[in-house]
Amino acid sequence: MAGKSERISFPKAVREYVFDRDNHQCKSCGQTTKLSIDHIIPLASGGSNDISNLQTLCSSCNSQKKHYFDPRFNRRYD
Ligand SMILES: [Zn+2]
Repeated sequence: MAGKSERISFPKAVREYVFDRDNHQCKSCGQTTKLSIDHIIPLASGGSNDISNLQTLCSSCNSQKKHYFDPRFNRRYD
C-alpha cells in the first residue's frame, strides 16, 4: 500500500461502521460535523479496539473528554 498512513489506528471500514451505527452524529451533543472515533474506555485504561468500545464524538466533545489528559492541565506550578 502506497501513500502516507494516518496516525489513527482504525481501518476506514471500522470508522464507517461506527459512524453508520451512530447515525453520523456525535453521541454526546448530536452534532453531525467534525466527527471522530472515540474509545469509550481509553486504551490506557484497558479499553479495547473492539467496535463495542468505539463511539462517534465530534472533535469538540472529544477534546473536552481529553482535557483530563491535556498536558496544559498537568502543568507544574513550581
Ligand atoms: Zn459533540
